[in-house]
Parts: sequence; C-alpha cells; structure tokens
Amino acid sequence: MSGSYRKAKHQAAGHDGNFTDAEESLFFKPTTVQEVEFYQQIQCRDAERTSTDLKLEAWMPVFLGTLEAGVTGKARESSDSEVQSAIAAHTNLIQNEPGPSPHNKPIIVLENLLHGYKSPNILDVKLGKTLYDDSASDDKKLRLRKVSQETTSGSLGLRICGMKLQESAAASTLDEGHYAREDDGYISINKFYGRGLDASNVKSGFELFFGSNSLSVHRRKTLTETFLHRIQLLYNTLLEEEVRMISASLLLVYEADSDRWDELQDRDALLRTDFFQDSSDDEEEVEHPSPLSSLSVIDFAHSRVTTGQGYDENVICGVESLIEIFDQLCSSFN
Ligand code: ADP
Ligand code: MN
Repeated sequence: MSGSYRKAKHQAAGHDGNFTDAEESLFFKPTTVQEVEFYQQIQCRDAERTSTDLKLEAWMPVFLGTLEAGVTGKARESSDSEVQSAIAAHTNLIQNEPGPSPHNKPIIVLENLLHGYKSPNILDVKLGKTLYDDSASDDKKLRLRKVSQETTSGSLGLRICGMKLQESAAASTLDEGHYAREDDGYISINKFYGRGLDASNVKSGFELFFGSNSLSVHRRKTLTETFLHRIQLLYNTLLEEEVRMISASLLLVYEADSDRWDELQDRDALLRTDFFQDSSDDEEEVEHPSPLSSLSVIDFAHSRVTTGQGYDENVICGVESLIEIFDQLCSSFN
C-alpha cells in the first residue's frame, strides 16, 4: 500500500502538505474545521434546493468527505462503494504514515481538479479587498490590511497569488525573485509576482498565464472566451448566494498539451462534468472526457454560510474586476 499516495504534483499557491492518490483523482488537504463545515453546509443545503440556477456547489471541487481518526469519514452517501473503500484505504494509510496532517488538522477529500490533464497550467487568484475575518488576531489583521492596501487586492478586489506554468518564452520577462524553475519543465510563479502588479498592469499577469507557446493563437483566444463566459456565469451564481468567502480563490486550469486538444478536437465543457460520472467505467469516460480547462472556487478556510444577509460584496467586487480584465483579454485577440 505504501507509495499509493503522494505529494500533490502541481500547486499554484498556498501551503504544502496536500496529497493525491495513485490515480491522481483525489486531492487531500489538511485544513480547518471551518472549511470542513462550509463544504458540509453547502452540500446539505444545495441538495435541498430546486432552483435551476447554477449553484455554488457547481463551482466547487466535489467534496467526498473528511478523514478522521479511525473512521471512514463523512463521505457523501451518493458516492459509490469504490470511492468509499478508496477513502477508507487512504484513512489507514495516512494515519500510519506521519506527515500529511500536521497538528492533527482535519483532512478534506476533494476531487482533484487536475485529474486527466497531461500538462496543466494553473492560476490561483485570491478574491476580495478584505483578506481577514473577525477571528484573525490583531497582528494578522494589520498585516493583511497592509497586503490589501499595497496590492490589487485593495484596488481591484483580486490578486494573482501564484501560478504553475509549463516553461514558456514569456518566463524570460520575469524578475528573478518572482519565480523558480522546477525540474519537470515547469516554472512556479510565487506570491511576490502578483503582489508587484497594480491595477494598470495586472492584465499582463493573465497574458502570462495564457501565453503558452504550445497552443495556437486560436486555442488561446478560445480559452480566454470560455473563461470569460464561465466568470459571467459564476457572477450570476454569486449574486444569488448568501455566503462570506474571505480569502477564497479562483483556480483556473487549462491543458497546455496540444495533443490533448487534438484528441478532443478542441471540444471543452463550460462546466466540469460530475466527478462521479467520469470516474467509474470506460464507456462513460468516452462521453465525459476530462476537460481542457476549468474554473473553480477553492479555499474556504475562512468561509461561512450567511443566510438572509445578501450576496458577498467583497467577492463580487473582485469578480467584476475579473470580467473587465477578461473582456480586454478577449478583445486583444481581435
Ligand atoms: P491554502 O491556500 O490554504 O494552502 P488552497 O485550498 O488554496 O489552500 O490550496 C492551495 C493550492 O492547492 C491551490 O492554489 C491549488 O493549486 C491547489 N488545489 C487546491 N484544491 C485543489 C483541488 N481540489 N484539486 C487540485 N488542486 C487543488
Ligand atoms: Mn489558498
């Protein structure tokens, strides 16, 4: 059993300590009780709602459950037995091997958003002008207020937190302190890159992200249009949602391997297909191939359901800025 789970391969930002399974279909993240509760509440709530609108859950990674001492966890009931036993196996494994869960944090089991990609390029964009909630210490509030004031978090309500990109020509324009070359042909762009951008040049960060020289201009144009469409849909979702998502991120992923674009004849789904549909048997996999790109909301360590309190202005403001940026990106191809 040893070796059947490992460090998550590509991360755009955030803490280390996340794991994946041998098939790389699951993502294990040590996190806060608050994030566990947010996933659980959204899952319960959305199961009861009948609206035909796209719900927040559609933009979140599928939440399979948590790993807790000695039990399988609260895996969703609709999940098949294969998934249940996979989680059970991982529970044992993780408990028997030190490392993945520092300080006894709960571990959430999520859909791995990179599953099926050959060469994913990944961008993490943190939303909101306010980056802390009431539970933060005074020190932390002070520090995060300063980060917001000095970056596009404050001016636009969004900030590029980090990227993981296939090595591309665009990287030669980067400051030395802003990236590291990995030995797998990738470059990691760190948080200082995004902190150095301002409202007038933040667009160049997104141009860098979509600047993959392995994809044709036409494919890159299609990508920016698809993401604009998704962001507009997400905006509508968020206007209907009564939540507060402090320091949540948007995770943008696209396939930088042109062979996969050829294989799928450039067909890309607007929304991620259901995790359970394309995880099981081969026949279905033909009908639901892994996407060529996706947009997700992640990182709910400081998120709360706030029924009756209206939409999340802090997050909405960042999404509005993002729509403007993507409008410009799309028109720059014409
Ligand atoms: P934190 O910022 O608290 O460390 P995040 O939830 O933001 O945790 O995750 C950190 C990074 O891990 C993200 O930038 C992203 O690259 C990666 N990641 C998070 N969730 C998933 C997922 N479900 N599948 C694949 N990668 C993920
Ligand atoms: Mn994060």
